[in-house]
Amino acid sequence: MKETDPESTRSQALSMPSSNASAEEIWKLCLEKIHNKINPQSFNTWFKPIVPLSLTNEELTIQVPSQFFYEWIEENYYALLKRTIIEVIGENAKLTYSVVVQKSPYQPVTLELPQQKTDLPPPEEISTNGAKLQEQTSHFKTNVQKFESFLNPKYQFDNFIQGDCNALALAAAKSVAESPGKNSFNPLVVYGGVGLGKTHLVQAIGNYARLHKRTNMVLYVSSEKFTIEFVSAIQNGRVQDFSSLYRNVELLIIDDIQFFEGKEKTQEEIFHIFNALHQTNKQIVLSSDRPIKELKGLEERLLSRFQWGLSADLQQPDYETRRAILQRKLADNGSNFPEPVIEFIATHVKHNIRELEGCMVKLLATSSLYKKDKDIDLALTKIVLKDLIRERTRSITIDVIEKVVCDFYNVSSNQMKGKSRKKEIAFARQVAMHLSKELTGSSYKTIGLYFGGRDHSTVIHAVNTIEKEIKNSFEIGSNIQDLKKKIELQSI
Ligand code: ADP
Ligand code: MG
Repeated sequence: MKETDPESTRSQALSMPSSNASAEEIWKLCLEKIHNKINPQSFNTWFKPIVPLSLTNEELTIQVPSQFFYEWIEENYYALLKRTIIEVIGENAKLTYSVVVQKSPYQPVTLELPQQKTDLPPPEEISTNGAKLQEQTSHFKTNVQKFESFLNPKYQFDNFIQGDCNALALAAAKSVAESPGKNSFNPLVVYGGVGLGKTHLVQAIGNYARLHKRTNMVLYVSSEKFTIEFVSAIQNGRVQDFSSLYRNVELLIIDDIQFFEGKEKTQEEIFHIFNALHQTNKQIVLSSDRPIKELKGLEERLLSRFQWGLSADLQQPDYETRRAILQRKLADNGSNFPEPVIEFIATHVKHNIRELEGCMVKLLATSSLYKKDKDIDLALTKIVLKDLIRERTRSITIDVIEKVVCDFYNVSSNQMKGKSRKKEIAFARQVAMHLSKELTGSSYKTIGLYFGGRDHSTVIHAVNTIEKEIKNSFEIGSNIQDLKKKIELQSI
């Protein structure tokens, strides 16, 4: 519980209802006041998810969904909250937060290790109102200890969006999670570039296996953490403990094995653990940022073992998948963006799903800082994400735009640049000019010169005409969107 003391500022309890008002009633009054003072997006993002829990004397307890959420509110809305609850409850009002950490559906299990008990203390648990936060500590503090999987419950199959880019990896991952160690994908290696979902997918395997009681003995570790713990085990003379822990799991997940490159001692330890697990039909899941055979700094014997099972890659998601992921993340966040904003982000952020999420968070956070009424719209999106757009516009050329527009309207390049005023040709030309202005940011003069040496005022006229057409005609608007997507694709 975290307490905010709204000091002892004397202020009238303007609207204190009856003395036995419930937490919900009080919070509702607070929300009405807050609603009038901040923009709707901020309100929806930061206040709607709050749940009033209890009201004891003049102490209101509210539940917030995460530590980050709590910190954000304290950082940005402390004064507003303080003022509001004093107004509603009275001068002695107190506000207490209950931070709920997403509850893991799993109970820790006990793993008996063969060694003698040591005198180190058991791993700590911090209890916050019933929710458990497991401290990220060493796996082997004691010999008989609560067995931590170190899985993050937010990574599930259910919230992993399927697309052509990940279909094989997802199917293999599900199959491994269903019957760890009893399939031909051992080890399963998931590889792909940064931010494409490796950690999500490999952790989803562990989460599924535990939730569906395939095995409780799941251990997730990043290769960096593995290395650090191994080195410290050597220094403390506890390599035996270290090895035993890893050899006793039934599903071992090691993330980012490229970090093992060049670390010979660690590789040797991995080699022995791998053999011990594989021989006893225990499941091994690995992730890497590139295909196994490209991991030059790994010993040959490890490389060959890592290729015994199945390697499945995660590719860059296509537009539809990017949209679906964004929509899912928004829904999980209890937010929504207007269609053009979703489309804009999904069109421009192509290579990294983490960036897609980053854009969403940046946009939500920025819009919530606006003091005046401001919803997230395309204009705001373009301002907030402008660095991104600039990067993109550099790679689009008028040449590409002309080609795509010519194909679309069935007009030749000569006609585009020629003198014809035929309606269809003139329209296609105007569209090309409009898109050139928007997507390349070139000057009116440059665009005019490109399209048959026309005057800059002709280009301005074209840009304005098409803007109006987009507003007036759904069909034209949607054609322009299609054209933009095609141009994007041609410009990668
Ligand atoms: P990597 O480990 O490959 O760098 P992560 O697994 O950390 O990438 O993924 C980055 C972010 O993108 C995470 O928040 C993850 O939940 C999300 N993500 C990746 N792929 C998907 C997907 N197919 N569906 C939903 N979210 C995804
Ligand atoms: Mg990762």
